[in-house]
Formats: sequence, structure tokens, C-alpha cells
Amino acid sequence: KVKMIMEKYISPLMEQEDELIEPILDYQTTEELPLSSKMIDQVVGQDQAVEIIKIAARQKRSVLLIGEPGTGKSMLGQAISELLPVSKLEDVIVESGGSERNVPKIKTQPAGKAAPYIRKFENEAKSSLVAFRWMMGFVYLAVLFVMFFYYFTKDEPLFLLVGFIVIGLLYFASKKLKTNPAVQIPKILVDHTNSKRAPFIDATGLHAGALLGDIRHDPYQSGGLEAMPHQLVESGAIHQAHQGVLYIDEVSTLSTESQQFLLTAFQEKKLPITGRSLGSSGSMIRTEAVPTDFIMVLAGNVPDVDKIHPALRSRIQGYGYEIYTKTTMEDTPDNRYKLAQFVSQEVRKDRKIPHFTREAVHVVIGRAKEMSPHSKQLTTRFRELGGLIRTAGDIAVQSNAQLVSKKHVEKAMLKIKTLEEQMWMEVDKSRFSTPYSQLGMVQTLLHYKGIIGQVSKISLVVQSSEEVELQAPDWLTIGEQTKLEALLYQKGLFGKYYIQKNGMNQNDESEDDKSSREDLSLGILVASISIKKNIMLVDFAVCGHVDIMGTITGTSYFESKVKTAARQGIKKIIAPLDNAIDDIPKGMEVFWVKTVDEVEEIIVHQFGKIEAHL
Ligand code: ADP
Repeated sequence: KVKMIMEKYISPLMEQEDELIEPILDYQTTEELPLSSKMIDQVVGQDQAVEIIKIAARQKRSVLLIGEPGTGKSMLGQAISELLPVSKLEDVIVESGGSERNVPKIKTQPAGKAAPYIRKFENEAKSSLVAFRWMMGFVYLAVLFVMFFYYFTKDEPLFLLVGFIVIGLLYFASKKLKTNPAVQIPKILVDHTNSKRAPFIDATGLHAGALLGDIRHDPYQSGGLEAMPHQLVESGAIHQAHQGVLYIDEVSTLSTESQQFLLTAFQEKKLPITGRSLGSSGSMIRTEAVPTDFIMVLAGNVPDVDKIHPALRSRIQGYGYEIYTKTTMEDTPDNRYKLAQFVSQEVRKDRKIPHFTREAVHVVIGRAKEMSPHSKQLTTRFRELGGLIRTAGDIAVQSNAQLVSKKHVEKAMLKIKTLEEQMWMEVDKSRFSTPYSQLGMVQTLLHYKGIIGQVSKISLVVQSSEEVELQAPDWLTIGEQTKLEALLYQKGLFGKYYIQKNGMNQNDESEDDKSSREDLSLGILVASISIKKNIMLVDFAVCGHVDIMGTITGTSYFESKVKTAARQGIKKIIAPLDNAIDDIPKGMEVFWVKTVDEVEEIIVHQFGKIEAHL
């Protein structure tokens, strides 16, 4: 009884006890940092998600993980499987349906017991085969004896002929019969002989057969030599995940039909296997129900949420948890230490790169800060950050260094440009070829198509005293346009403007791009002021948004925008007060503003001397 109580109540609690690892704050290299053996403790910056995952694993609840790619969704899914008890695992076997040929039977055995069970059948089959061979041997001898007996006693050659024909027929008949004992051997569908933890089955992007199980095609069927139906049964991911975790990323890509079957399997905790291709011989076969008692972990990006089958979603809402994996964490000493731990983890996982010095980790932290859309926060888009770590490691390996130093990470930062960044740099030169010190031209700091801190130029060309033509990337929406018209009119600036499309082609844009593109309103407003007041804005850039009341609101990825501006030789920036930070690059001046009036004042006072000579 004590053993039973220990197994049922105490062990799961002990298994889930957190490993306490003391932080080593004065580390010199990441090699000194301790690494937890458990996946759940390796997840950085998702504290809330980790707490829910622990509960979900203990209570066997399903989970919907929504968040940006590379924030740890699949790690969290794997963590659940590590927390599940191994003692409950089961092997699943399919055997002949007997008289009901097309309904193979399903049996479960404790983990690791399926193989011995099958072996018993194999041994039986083997011994019956031996007995069969002996028996056939006797039959041949008997026929030979009778044949020669009659031949010699009756001297009738016809008996020889009849005898050989009988032996031939017996031989062919035995060939067919012989296969039968082996055909009856059951087949293992799910085997846990060597499983040390509950299964984690990643079913992302699987077609229906691989997800739900299938009946293999039997090419010999028409020849009468067909295999027994149960030997053609193939288990699917949902059956492999029995007593473990079924993880499906990008769940919206599953067909509606598959989502429905998935729901049935999840609800009933069992689903028969049948042929998935219509019209094939396999669709005649349908096994008894195969157990599918798994924890369902669905993952996806924010836009995927709408595409999940409503019944599936409501199932999770009712019987599980919905978790949003965060894209940022607070910039605290604790979280900086966790980032160092992350670097250490990635180095150990990669096995091909050396450890990082403390200074090198500091540069990685700087990058994490830059990648975060909000000031005073660090990014948790770890896959991307991992890319930087590996590139820096490769550079260190290339130069035969024992450790990755600050220099290597800095070099890596210059190297890891995304495809979009490289393309932008290519097109940008030709697109905005006018010199930036032109009247009515303003550089705006943008975040576009995943490119952070992009400097783009907006320019206004005066048509008449009331009208201007706007040359800007063409993602200005009708809403923004209306807002600007109202604002410009109210400020006594221009009443009307025309947009000349010289930005990225709008047709190339996906919904994601549209939601991540920037509001150009403040840039356009500053350009209008520049024209109206006849002031040129040299070595200058602007960032931020303006609302209809003329209030300037904060912008995302501010720190990385400022750094890009500094690299491009921009000396002065007008930026929203909401973004105010202390850490400004050397030689740069930032004017923090809250209202349009302040913007106008700064332009007149700071740049007023550089009047354009028309
Ligand atoms: P997702 O499923 O959200 O796209 P993954 O869990 O597959 O992301 O993460 C990919 C890799 O990035 C992981 O193998 C790990 O190295 C790293 N990673 C992602 N998120 C985290 C995190 N929260 N903590 C530590 N490492 C992470």
C-alpha cells in the first residue's frame, strides 16, 4: 500500500520539485554557469508560461501556445512530456480479427511487454512450421512408397505418373499453407521498450495518414497471396502520442477534416485506424479503437488563432490553458543573468562553438535590448538571438580562439543581415537617390518588414501654396491620410497633398507586414513644417507618431533605430518623450517632444539658421 501511495501521490510531486540552482553572478565565462538537465528549467523569460505548463502537466490539461516564432513554444511542449510519469506508458498491439478479417483487434500491454508477447507468437509459429515440415515429409514418403509399391507389384507405369502429379500438387499446396502461421503474428503499433520518458510527438505539417494512422497499400491483394489486414495497419502520430504529448505547430495548416478527427481522438481518447485514401483496398479495413489518450499542445502565431477550428479551440478553452509566449522581458539584473544562462545553453547544445566571455555576453545582451520593441526591455525571440550566438561562435572558431570574445560578437552582428535587410540595402540606394539636404525632405527611422531601424526618406514637393506632393514609401493608409490632412490644415500648413508611390510594392505585402508597418505621420508633418518655414533639415531624422490632437506618441524599437541613425551619420533626432532613454550614442542630440507645437519650435530654433535659398 505504501508503495502504491508513493507511486500515485508522492513521486509526481517529487518529480516536479524545482531544481534549485544558485546563480553565479561573478562568472568570467559561460562555462562556469550551471545547466539544468530539465527542459522546463531551460526556458528563459516565459515565467508565467512555465508555471501554467507545470500545472498542465500535472493535471493532464491541453495547452494552446500562441506567440512569435522562436520564443520557446516547442520547448514548453517538450517540457510537458518530461514532466509526465513514465510509469503509465503502454504498448499497443494489433492482431488478426479472426473471422472478422477487416476488423483487426487492438490490445494494450504494459510498456516493454509487447515485444515478448509477439515473440511468443513467433516461437509458436516457428514450432508449428517445423511440425508442418515434418508432417509434409511423411506425406511425401508415404506417397512415394505407395507409388513404387504399385509400380513394382503391378508393373504399371501410370502409377509413376499419378504419383509425381500428386507430389507436385502437394508441394504447391504446402507452399501456400506454410505462410499461414507467420501471417497470424500480431504487429506492434506503439513500442515503449526503451522509453525513458513520456512520448513527445511533433505532428507539425503531417498529412492525414501520418497523423491519424493508415492502412498500407497491399499490392498483391488480387493475387490471392495477400498479407493479413492487421499487418498492413500503421499507427499515426495521435496513437504514438498516447500517454504523452501531441505537439502541433501551425495548427491552422491542418485540413478541417483532420482537425475534426483530431478532436474526436482527443475527446474519446481512442480512434480506430482505417485506410485514408478513398477507394483503396485499405479503406475496407477498420481496426478496433486504438488508444489516443494524449495531452494536446497546439502552437501558432497570433494570426493563426482565427484559423483554428472553433470546436478545437473551445475544447482547449474549456479543458485546458491558452498561453501567450511573450516577446520581451524586463531589463533586470536577474533577466540579464538568465540571458547569460541562455548563451551557455546554446553553446552546449551546439557543441561546435566555444564558450563566451562575460564581455561577449554583454554584447549579446545589448543586441537583445536592441531587438526589443520597447525601451528598458530585452527580447525573448531566442531563436534569432541563438543565430547571433552561433555566428559569433563560428567566427571565433575560424580565428582559432579558445573563447568567444566581444570582438567576435560585434563582427557577427554586422554579418547577420536578414534577406529583407540585404534586399532593402540594395533597392534603397536607387529608390531614394535625391540628396537628403533638400527642402521638405525628412529622414524617418522605421521598422519595416522585420528590418529594424531602417532610415527612409520622406519628401514633399510644393505644387502650389496649398498643395504638396508626397514622396514616401506607399504604405500610408487612408486613415493616416485623413488624419494628416486634418492636422496639416489645423496647423495652417498644407490643405492637400498627392502621394507618389515610390516605396515597396503594396502587392508584395502580407497581412503581417501591414500590421507591422510604421505610421509616417510625424515625418510628413515635419517635412511640411520644413517647407512652410523654408528650413532645411540637415543630418537630421525623426521618429514617432502623431495623433489627431497633435500629441506625439512613442515608437517601437527605438534603441535600435537610434543606433542605425548614428551609423548613418545623423546628428539630431526628434523623438517622442514616451521613448526617453539615457543611453544615447555619442555625438547625437535627441529632442524629446510631446506636442506638434514643440516640434515646430525645435525646428525653427535648432535648424532655423540653415535656410534654403530658393
Ligand atoms: P518556437 O516553437 O516558439 O518557434 P522553439 O521552442 O522551437 O521556438 O525554439 C527554438 C530554439 O530557440 C530552441 O531550441 C532554443 O534553443 C531557443 N529558445 C527559444 N525560446 C527559448 C526560451 N524561452 N528559453 C531558452 N531558449 C529558447
